[in-house]
Amino acid sequence: MKLEKKIGIPKAMLYYTYFPFWYGFFNNLGIEVILSNNTTKKTISDGASLVVTETCLPVKVYVGHVLDLINKGIKNIFVPSIQSIAPKIYNCSKIRGLPDLIRNVIKSDFNLIEATLDKSEKDQNLIDFLLETAKYFKIEDFDTVKKAQRAGFVVQNNFNVMVQNGLNFEDALKNAKEGKIVIPPKKEPKSINVALVGHGYNIYDKRTCMDIFKKLEDMDVQVYSAYQLTLEQMKGGMHSLGSSLYWANQYEMTGCAGHYLQDDKIDGIITLTAFGCGPDSLMLEDIRRKAKNFNKPLLNLTIDEHTGEAGFITRLEAFCDMLYRNKRAKILKEKQKVDELIQR
Ligand code: SF4
Repeated sequence: MKLEKKIGIPKAMLYYTYFPFWYGFFNNLGIEVILSNNTTKKTISDGASLVVTETCLPVKVYVGHVLDLINKGIKNIFVPSIQSIAPKIYNCSKIRGLPDLIRNVIKSDFNLIEATLDKSEKDQNLIDFLLETAKYFKIEDFDTVKKAQRAGFVVQNNFNVMVQNGLNFEDALKNAKEGKIVIPPKKEPKSINVALVGHGYNIYDKRTCMDIFKKLEDMDVQVYSAYQLTLEQMKGGMHSLGSSLYWANQYEMTGCAGHYLQDDKIDGIITLTAFGCGPDSLMLEDIRRKAKNFNKPLLNLTIDEHTGEAGFITRLEAFCDMLYRNKRAKILKEKQKVDELIQR
């Protein structure tokens, strides 16, 4: 099959972590990037129909997005195997095995661009992974690939700066792709502040998370997530909980929770996890046990393809009501203390 200079990227899973980099990288190499459409009910049911029921929702969504790209007639689809991003730090087996899964469940005629990044067993560097990827497009010049790597980092860093400063995911991505950095004006404070703890693919895919950011903001809640934190802050969060790192995406769960548990402006923590996720259940147990020392309310929401929106909203409303009551009681108590001091 003749390779065209176009690559399809599923808008799922590690898209939510690395897409700005991938966009800058492929663009610099003159390879056009085509994305799958936003997740819909059909994306999920198409993906779910090809894998065993016990598979976690993000993987079902991912398979649905690959099918979407195939239906668009895209011939080259990027399904990398990101095994390990640092020595002895691994992705979960489902993320590591994505190319094998896709090859086995989708029998259509397309090229799987499936380079591997493994910093543990194979001691590979990012550039090795990028050279392997570019080779699919017959680009083998080291300097050309290195230049594209730098271009990828520029887009990713610009994106990171904007989301860390509170710009939403979509706008930050749009600006970063255009080579811009836009820092949003400071928002009016909301009644309560909540930290939303979850993987990017769970909290930013509006269909799978039922647009939780908007739902909370409509309830006058300011939402904070791992994306507003630097790596150093998340490392500090892990340290404060006394947790050690094993999973590549543990910073955005345990590190994020650890950071916000110590942050006085945060009134409560919401964790959003996928049903059937082994790593999440271990991380959640760790967070739950240690959160007790910080005296902060914690709600866990588990999602799968059958999660109903009504029940989801009810649980969010009940939790936020409790946070409002707690905050009001705290403010009244503080006011009472001040009144007593004045009367003395
Ligand atoms: S970490 Fe959990 S949710 Fe993510 S792919 Fe692995 S099993 Fe699925």
